[in-house]
Amino acid sequence: MNGRKELKTFMRNAISVAEATRLVLDRVRVMPTEEVPLMQSIGRTLAVELVAPQPMPHFRRSGMDGFAVMAADTKQASIGSPVSLHIVDNVPAGQVSTMTLQPGQCIRIMTGAAVPEGADAVIKYEMTAEESGPDGTELCKVKGVVAIGENVSPIGVEITEKETVLCSGVQIGAGEIALLAMFGIHTVQVYKQPRVAILATGAELLRVEDALAPGRVRNSNSYMLAAAITAFGGIPVVMDQVPDDAVIAKQMIRKAILEHDVVVTTGGVSVGDHDILYDVTQEWDGDLVFNKVMMRPGSPTTFGMWHGKLIFALSGNPAACYVGCRLFLRPALRGMMVADLIPEPRIMATLTVNYAKSDRFTRFICGRMSEQAGKLTAAPVGYDMSSVTVSLRDANCLICLPGSPNGYQEGALVEIIPLKGICE
Ligand code: AMP
Ligand code: MG
Repeated sequence: MNGRKELKTFMRNAISVAEATRLVLDRVRVMPTEEVPLMQSIGRTLAVELVAPQPMPHFRRSGMDGFAVMAADTKQASIGSPVSLHIVDNVPAGQVSTMTLQPGQCIRIMTGAAVPEGADAVIKYEMTAEESGPDGTELCKVKGVVAIGENVSPIGVEITEKETVLCSGVQIGAGEIALLAMFGIHTVQVYKQPRVAILATGAELLRVEDALAPGRVRNSNSYMLAAAITAFGGIPVVMDQVPDDAVIAKQMIRKAILEHDVVVTTGGVSVGDHDILYDVTQEWDGDLVFNKVMMRPGSPTTFGMWHGKLIFALSGNPAACYVGCRLFLRPALRGMMVADLIPEPRIMATLTVNYAKSDRFTRFICGRMSEQAGKLTAAPVGYDMSSVTVSLRDANCLICLPGSPNGYQEGALVEIIPLKGICE
C-alpha cells in the first residue's frame, strides 16, 4: 500500500501556477456562436463587431429646454437690454419643425428635440422671458448672448456613421446593451456558454437531500462549483455523484464528456487509497496535461483532455476545490467565450498581519480586503485550512503568497484576487 502511495506522489511533476494556466489556455477552443434576444445578451460575449449604421445623434439635438435662435440675433442682448425675437413655432422632443428660422425669429424647443433649419444655437429658458407683442404675436426677450453651436449636439458628435461601436469579444453590460438598443439590434450574436458537467467523487458523500450519517458529509462542492461556473459565465450541470470505483467513474466521466463542453470533477485526485480520479487518468486514452501544481491548497489539481474536451479534476477539500476552479476553470471558460479581452489587472494589497508559514509552493489564502485611508489592505479569514468551507463565505479575495522560506511580514505588499461579484 505504501509503495502505491509513493508511486502516486513521486510520479507527479509539479509545475508553477503560471505554467499550468498557460497549458490550460493553450488547449482552449472558442465556442460556436448563437443569436439571442437582446435581453438574453446581458453578461454574454458579443461575437460580432457593431458598426454604427447611422451617426448618433442622427439629427441636431437640443441639449436644453429653451429657444432655438440664430446666435447672431443675440449679439447685443443683455439683462439690461434684452433682444426681442418672434416665437414662430414650438418643437417638443420627438417632433420636427417644418419651418426654417429667419433672422429676428426663434422657436420654442425642448431638450432632445431636433433643432430647426436656420437655427444655430439654443438659449435656455432661464435666460429668456416671454411676452405678448402689440399685434398679439408672442415674443421672447433674450437676456444674454449665445454662441454658435451652444446647447446644440451636432450630428454624429457621439458616434459617427460606420464607426466601430462595439468590438467582438466585449462582455455585454449596461453601456454595451444601451448601444445595441440604440442602434435597434434586437437579436444579438454571442458566443455560446460552455456547458460544464460537475461530478463529485467520494464514498463519504451524501446528497443534499440525504439525512446526515456518521462519518458522512453532504456534497457541497458540486453546488459551490455550480455557483462559480455561473459567475464565470458558464452553464453548470450537476451530475450524479460518482462512486469510488474507477471503472464506473471512467464510464460516467466519459458520458459527461460526450454530452458537455467541459467536465469538472471534485475529490479523489490526491494520494489516498480511494483516489480514483488519479487511477482514471492513468488508464484512459486521454491526454494528461498536469497533475501537480506548485500551489496550496490544491497541489494535486489535475487537468487533461479527453475526446477533445477539457477535464479538470479538482481536489475535494472545499477551499482547494474553489482555488482550482478560480485559477484554472475560470480562464478556460472565459477563453471559450472570448471574454476578458483585457487581461485581469494585478491588484496589490498590504498584509495587515504576519503570515509565518514557510512554503515552497504559492499559497492562495481566503482573505478579506478592505480599504483603509486610500490603501488596499488584506488579511486571512478564519482557519487557514483547505477543509474549511466557511472561510469561502467570509472571503472577498484570495491572497496569493508565492513560496517563501520565512513567510510574510505585516506590511508586505502582496497580490490579491478579488472575489464576490467584484471579479468572480
Ligand atoms: P479528497 O480530495 O477526495 O481526498 O477529499 C478531501 C476532503 O474533502 C475530504 O474531507 C472529503 O470528505 C471532502 N470532500 C470531498 N468531496 C467533497 C464534496 N463534494 N463536498 C464536500 N466535501 C468534500
Ligand atoms: Mg476522496
